[in-house]
Amino acid sequence: MIVAERVNKHFGELHVLKDVSLTVAKGEVVVIIGPSGSGKSTFLRCLNYLETIDNGYITMEGQPIGKRKLADGRLVDDGRKNVYRLRSQMGMVFQRFNLFPHQTALQNVMEGPITVFKVPPSEAKSRSLALLAKVGLADKADVYPVQLSGGQQQRVAIARALAMQPRVMLFDEPTSALDPELVGEVLEVIKDLAREGMTMVVVTHEMGFAREVADRVIFMDDGRIVEEAKPQKIFTDPAHPRTREFLSKIL
Ligand code: ADP
Ligand code: MG
Repeated sequence: MIVAERVNKHFGELHVLKDVSLTVAKGEVVVIIGPSGSGKSTFLRCLNYLETIDNGYITMEGQPIGKRKLADGRLVDDGRKNVYRLRSQMGMVFQRFNLFPHQTALQNVMEGPITVFKVPPSEAKSRSLALLAKVGLADKADVYPVQLSGGQQQRVAIARALAMQPRVMLFDEPTSALDPELVGEVLEVIKDLAREGMTMVVVTHEMGFAREVADRVIFMDDGRIVEEAKPQKIFTDPAHPRTREFLSKIL
């Protein structure tokens, strides 16, 4: 589904991604863990081309993201239209909910399909109501974000991403900004998606969630993938001392 091959990224002098390679199979749930500043968010942003990469390549279902391969093998920047099309196939949910404050929950979810895919409003509405029900918010359709708890807002954000019918979902610390008692309800929604076979890359510090849901856990440190293993393995017997040190701090 996604192949990233030797991706490098600098911010000025700062080398934030160092030969990062990752393959995500269809239906797989990959959890990325690692210390703050290790490049996790930057990597997710590169996956859907919110950031450009210096070299290496990223493909989704064989299609290079943000690049086109010429007949001689060189990669050149792709047109905006293709970038937007590919990006719309990856739903992204951030730490902060980023809902439109002047729109109701329902309007937040309906907006994308109507403006991007020209879905007729009546159809967008019924699909969006179904998505709100799916994330447990059937009764909150007409409520504005300010009237919702953080956990509810994040569930609307997930419904909004799902409304675009993404092939892949990317989550960047989706529960880090939440009060502890609201974390579970958001993780439940993400677990449901995993059970339904959604392909997902999830950056999180929720190790219980990772243990339960991840097919694979990636440990990133200082811009590199240091270790990658099944959750049972990495949490009980990490191979790399840096992984061990990190886990001992947070577990
Ligand atoms: P993580 O998500 O693992 O905490 P990030 O990907 O956010 O790490 O950041 C990796 C490194 O890149 C950090 O040193 C951060 O300060 C730096 N960085 C992130 N975004 C930018 C940016 N837009 N400009 C400059 N430096 C950045
Ligand atoms: Mg981050």
